[in-house]
Amino acid sequence: MSVEFDVAVVGLGAMGSAALSSAAARGATAIGIEAHFPAHALSSSHGDSRLIRLGYFEDPSYVPLLKRAYHNWRSLEARLRAEILTVTGVLQIGAPDSKIVSGTRASCDMHGCRMRYSTRMP
Ligand SMILES: Cc1cc2nc3c(=O)[nH]c(=O)nc-3n(C[C@H](O)[C@H](O)[C@H](O)COP(=O)(O)OP(=O)(O)OC[C@H]3O[C@@H](n4cnc5c(N)ncnc54)[C@H](O)[C@@H]3O)c2cc1C
Repeated sequence: MSVEFDVAVVGLGAMGSAALSSAAARGATAIGIEAHFPAHALSSSHGDSRLIRLGYFEDPSYVPLLKRAYHNWRSLEARLRAEILTVTGVLQIGAPDSKIVSGTRASCDMHGCRMRYSTRMP
């Protein structure tokens, strides 16, 4: 007997699990394959906390994906009735023309993220 799947996800860390869940929610026949078991403590997803940020200095084109990620974390919280995401803001320090400062400003300007900019230490 053979079984056909629309989607196979190999590796069920945070990313693989999210992809598998999303595929199944869209009606795909999906299978996840994991070397250990889901939610084990050996992958890079394991740990007490992780951070994401909207002011993505690396490239503004990621910001729409990040906005979607915030939305998806809140959806997951609603489904689980648990608080997972804590929004704190982020402090970036550097020279005005450094990649970290200029890139954060570019992302925030382009995508309307709230940002306070100062050339002096408070
Ligand atoms: C210490 C640390 C801190 C980090 N902090 C952050 C952070 O603050 N913010 C952030 O965005 N990112 C952070 N990252 C990166 C982030 O954790 C990873 O990008 C993300 O969790 C990766 O998820 P993943 O599902 O792709 O991989 P993983 O969580 O590593 O999952 C991969 C899965 O694939 C399985 N697997 C591997 N090979 C096979 C195989 N051949 N067959 C079947 N299964 C297999 C593994 O068992 C594992 O379960 C951090 C990483 C580390 C290590």
